[in-house]
Amino acid sequence: MTSESQSAPVSNFIRTIIDNDLAAGRHAGKRWAGQPGPARIQQAGEPDTARIRTRFPPEPNGYLHIGHAKSICLNFGLAQDYQGACHLRFDDTNPEKEEDAYVKAIIDIVQWLGFDWRNNGEENCYYASDYFAFMYEFAESFVEAGFAYVDEQSPDQIRETRGTLTEQGTNSPWRDRPTHESLQRLREMRDGQHPNGSMALRAKIDMASPNINMRDPVLYRIRHAPHHRTGNTWCIYPMYSWAHPVEDALETITHSLCTLEFEDQRPFYDWILERLTELGHFLEPLPRQYEFSRLNLSHVVTSKRRLKLLVDEGHVSGWDDPRMPTLAGLRKRGYTPQAIKLFCSRLGVSKAAQNVPYSDLEQALRDDLDPRANRTVAVLDPIKLVLTNYPEGQTEPCQAPHHPHDPERGQRNFPLTRELWIERDDFREDPPKRYFRLFPGNTVRLKYGYIIRCTGFNKDDQGNITEVHAEYLPDTKSGTPGASSVKVRGTITWVSAAHAVPATVRLYDRLFNQPHPDAGDANFLDAINPDSVQTVQAWLEPGTHAAPETTWQFERLGYFVADRDESTPEQPVINRITTLRDVWI
Ligand code: ATP
Ligand code: MG
Repeated sequence: MTSESQSAPVSNFIRTIIDNDLAAGRHAGKRWAGQPGPARIQQAGEPDTARIRTRFPPEPNGYLHIGHAKSICLNFGLAQDYQGACHLRFDDTNPEKEEDAYVKAIIDIVQWLGFDWRNNGEENCYYASDYFAFMYEFAESFVEAGFAYVDEQSPDQIRETRGTLTEQGTNSPWRDRPTHESLQRLREMRDGQHPNGSMALRAKIDMASPNINMRDPVLYRIRHAPHHRTGNTWCIYPMYSWAHPVEDALETITHSLCTLEFEDQRPFYDWILERLTELGHFLEPLPRQYEFSRLNLSHVVTSKRRLKLLVDEGHVSGWDDPRMPTLAGLRKRGYTPQAIKLFCSRLGVSKAAQNVPYSDLEQALRDDLDPRANRTVAVLDPIKLVLTNYPEGQTEPCQAPHHPHDPERGQRNFPLTRELWIERDDFREDPPKRYFRLFPGNTVRLKYGYIIRCTGFNKDDQGNITEVHAEYLPDTKSGTPGASSVKVRGTITWVSAAHAVPATVRLYDRLFNQPHPDAGDANFLDAINPDSVQTVQAWLEPGTHAAPETTWQFERLGYFVADRDESTPEQPVINRITTLRDVWI
């Protein structure tokens, strides 16, 4: 455990708001019937035992990414800390883009992160599409109250007459049509009598408002398209700005937290809920919206549209490709839920723009795994080392701790023999300055073994080094009194060639060469790194058991994981999660 995960949560402006609301008893009288619904349902409920209600509302149009993790940790974390409840809500109001497969992937990954939407026996997993009947009922009541009208202008005309930041909008010719006419048209829209785009339901607020979002925003549009859950029941679908406050109020959310782009929507959010409350559909206290800054991580794209393009065009193997910034990709790469939560807790929550280097995410992984992951040895780019004075056929046990700072985990045992695999890079025919590893004449320590002196090497016809030769110095074995009798400046890792376990290892690099692949007008596909994965045949320390999702620190090399889908102990497939040190310059 790191000190951060043990200490009390760091405060932030949202916690301050919640503290003040709780101190003032703002939600003390709130009722909750155990299910979402308008006033007539909630009125019959008990006082809510959850002290706050938050929600995480993904649209099921793609896999969740690292940016979503920030929102998940915030919303579920607050509910945990304040004895509240956090709802998982699928904001599925766009029929064309949403799929059950995404719903399933989202459920899986939120659970994997370790969060739970159950609270006191309640299953707080909801779908906006379950509220379509309520939303429509409120729409009719809005029309009847004079708060909305059906506009028969085209979508282009509606856009063009909205005005700009400096110019006010102009009223639609349909704005003052009689209520009964709007109502009749709305019903015809619902009944499928009009084509897409022929008319829309708009709120009647103020076309001269300085906030463009208040200039009679569209509440409902016609979309003849089947929905992943409601099928062909509806051919009109609510707009986000109408759906979102209604969803929050139906679920009696207390604190509705969203990213800053929605700040300008807040007056409309409040306006809608106040009108619907006047009309008797909701009870005080109403949900309130608060905005925080989104996470922008370097060297990745996080828009779901762009991630989908990477998948659809085959730039990656799928949404869970280990190079993807999706949570499923990070999981397959070897990231742990704890590392992701540690990263999110270090991010904090504020309104300040948050541009975070990718190395911060990797550092959280190292900080999480360093105390937890067992150590083992692997040779990723092998070259044969022959100890020419070591008897053929002899094996000798060597020992190393599973973890250098946790002796209780015990020791691992592996044999030393005459022929070993070492890293190609640990030998140089002509060493550069300050190179302390093997070169002719030099001595180094074989980690957990003997000191050896390099005596020569073989080359093939093309000049490639095929084999390195050395002699071991008896009486210098690690852990024996003679171990310090010879001083060396380099230590190298090795595995016995006769005993090592073969493995496929995938060495991942960044997916994009640019820190901000989608900045400005750049086409992010141009920034794709053509060499973002290298697959090598490696040798692992004997005894390494590559059950799926096992993580290790390979000594000197970094953190690695046995792939959760492809690895078996017989045929290990291993992903490099990250190197030991930061290479993201
Ligand atoms: P995208 O543009 O990738 O589709 P989105 O914001 O539309 O992202 P949603 O599924 O609507 O995706 O998001 C669910 C929740 O996650 C929202 O409350 C949203 O504010 C939050 N969220 C999305 N991206 C980030 C981010 N980068 N940082 C923090 N929160 C985020
Ligand atoms: Mg969205």
